[in-house]
Amino acid sequence: MIIDNTSEPTISDFTGLALEAGFTYAAPLAMDALIFRPEVRSMCAADLCKSYDKCWSCPPAAGTLEHITGKAAGYSRGIIVQTSGKLKDDFDMASIRDISVRHSACFDTLVRQIKTLKPSCLPMGAGACTRCRRCTYPDRPCRHPDKLWPSMEAYGLLVSDVCVKSGLGYNYGSGTMTFTSCILID
Ligand code: SF4
Repeated sequence: MIIDNTSEPTISDFTGLALEAGFTYAAPLAMDALIFRPEVRSMCAADLCKSYDKCWSCPPAAGTLEHITGKAAGYSRGIIVQTSGKLKDDFDMASIRDISVRHSACFDTLVRQIKTLKPSCLPMGAGACTRCRRCTYPDRPCRHPDKLWPSMEAYGLLVSDVCVKSGLGYNYGSGTMTFTSCILID
């Protein structure tokens, strides 16, 4: 898809780019769903996902809620993107890993494309960063700070609520796994 950069790209241009990048679903982001909730950060701290204090993209390294949501202020639009796939069963870790890798690769491509049009866009990732086999946290700085995108949860977003308000599913049924990210665009 070639976007004419002599005029302002529309949200539909960006969702079109996302689908071309390989995402299963893409939609305009419901900006009224961007509610930065302390209770989501409390869930991070409870470490249910085993990523708390283990990665630069997640709390506490991602910064306080006040600090991180300050970066998200002032954006008027965005898109939400998902990669969904089928599992053989609930323990099909190979397929979960494969869907996660596909999601990250598509997100890298999309962010690179959107940044050429909108350099100050703000990507929010899907959970903990998995770019490196072993994160350098906390001993050394992130190896790829230019591709370090704190998770939607690190911003205090209730991902299920953001998906539904944006017209997407959060869970596409038993036997499926879905990863969700978003990009704020000015
Ligand atoms: S890019 Fe590597 S070092 Fe940086 S947060 Fe991700 S896994 Fe950690």
